[in-house]
Amino acid sequence: MLQFISGKLIDGTDNALIEVIDPSNGATVETGRAASPSDVGDAVAAARDAFPDWSREAPSTRSAALIRLAGILADRADALVESEVSQTGKPTKLAAGFDIPGTIDNASFFAGAARALEGKGAAEYSPEHTSYIRREPIGVIGSIAPWNYPLQMAGWKILPAIAAGNTVVIKPAQITPLTTIAFAQACADAGIPDGVVNVVTGYGAIAGEALVAHPGVSMVSFTGSTTVGRRIMKIASESAKRVQLELGGKAPMVVFDDADLEAAIHGAVAAALINTGQDCTAATRVYVQQPLFDQFVDGVAEVMSQIRLGEPRGESTDLGPLSSLAQQTRVDGYVRRAESYGAKIITGGAIPTKGWDGSDLTRGSYFEPTLITGVDQRSEIVQEEVFGPVLVALPFESDAEGISLANDTQYGLAASAWTRDVYRANTASRELAAGCVWINDHIPIISEMPHGGVKGSGFGKDMSSYGFDEYTTVKHVMFDITGNARKDWHRTIFAGNESPGDAR
Ligand code: NAP
Ligand code: MG
Repeated sequence: MLQFISGKLIDGTDNALIEVIDPSNGATVETGRAASPSDVGDAVAAARDAFPDWSREAPSTRSAALIRLAGILADRADALVESEVSQTGKPTKLAAGFDIPGTIDNASFFAGAARALEGKGAAEYSPEHTSYIRREPIGVIGSIAPWNYPLQMAGWKILPAIAAGNTVVIKPAQITPLTTIAFAQACADAGIPDGVVNVVTGYGAIAGEALVAHPGVSMVSFTGSTTVGRRIMKIASESAKRVQLELGGKAPMVVFDDADLEAAIHGAVAAALINTGQDCTAATRVYVQQPLFDQFVDGVAEVMSQIRLGEPRGESTDLGPLSSLAQQTRVDGYVRRAESYGAKIITGGAIPTKGWDGSDLTRGSYFEPTLITGVDQRSEIVQEEVFGPVLVALPFESDAEGISLANDTQYGLAASAWTRDVYRANTASRELAAGCVWINDHIPIISEMPHGGVKGSGFGKDMSSYGFDEYTTVKHVMFDITGNARKDWHRTIFAGNESPGDAR
């Protein structure tokens, strides 16, 4: 059963089935019926019913619930790891070291944020009034999430929203709903009332669009591709809904000629391969200043060739499969087409049949870690999101050229600069058009700091106090302090020279 509505695990009522597949071996993990638009309607109704009480709870009460949630998630960490691995194929060491602890830390962070509403100081900005700010929750949030980090995305969407007093209906990607449902169950077990967190597992074009269009939803928070983000914004515009869009990325690394080459090489391999490259901030394009290019390419090829690709549950496995056969076909298509227009495949580039330990990989959706050079900046492998373990390296000459190439895609989610020169680092942090710029590193995120893009990567922030603010609305309360029946400003309406205020 793949729907969690009003505190109950239930089946969907759509005729279409959802099948959760383990991409490491093709085995079926779970099946259930998809959410229909009417199930989405039930979930929104449950969230609306839950809103008045939840939004009026004291922040300390919501905070205490999130602290309990963090504890429950920690108690269930092993089961969450196993579930995340089985639906995504990510290596156990990644799920156990990053996905699950990251979500627990987020829950703790938003437990604190729930008690830290911010606004301008109350004051007499006009002599006749006291003005103050109320920060209020928005209502029912319709959230839509991708399949690459299912539990973390559920946390990023649900935690700030409910910390601020909203209620949520979330639609996970239909290929990876399990840990989102487990998260909602943990919320219920933490004492968060029924209807505050609801999960509808269905197809994007059906359940997703029904959620975005639903008149009972006050805001849509979406993480996914730029193409779908545009579609969501269009549908939401019909009811003038607030939207937050965390879209695709094509993150560049700019390696200047004074960089620590060993750090840049290891940084590039790790940042390109994390989550098998299915990470919106993954390093996808590395621009290397001459004369370092050949040395850099040799170094990356050498480190990549040592990566242990295989069954994700293996203790020593570095890289698991892609999250679906569809994704494997997509990644392979990008690499084959790049080859056809003259790309040089330095290492990898193929669908492997055997793992690092000799195991048979033919039933899974694996792809070799791949380094490509010799392509044009305008080619699709440089411009489009491949979302696989594929890194393109290109040389540059002047600092300005390196930055300009880095900025030359529709995306602007994340970027990094590698240099030992503080002036270059500061210039790069200003010039790189991205929501996050790392200096001498690439990938780390932290609950206290915002994540979100510019340009085609969307707008709005996840995590941090900025993420919390996304789920509140600012209300100005203006309080008359004169007690006068006739106000000074009435002069603009009523004729006569004397002040109505004076007349009283
Ligand atoms: P996607 O195809 O855009 O799908 C994302 C979600 O939207 C899924 O739940 C999908 O449902 C749903 N959806 C699809 N069509 C829809 C429609 N017409 N109306 C409403 N919902 C719809 O993205 P993906 O392939 O799952 O994930 C990869 C993408 O996410 C990449 O572009 C990646 O960069 C991006 N991403 C961005 C961030 C960030 O923070 N900026 C983080 C992670 C991932 P179904 O798939 O279930 O049908
Ligand atoms: Mg998709």
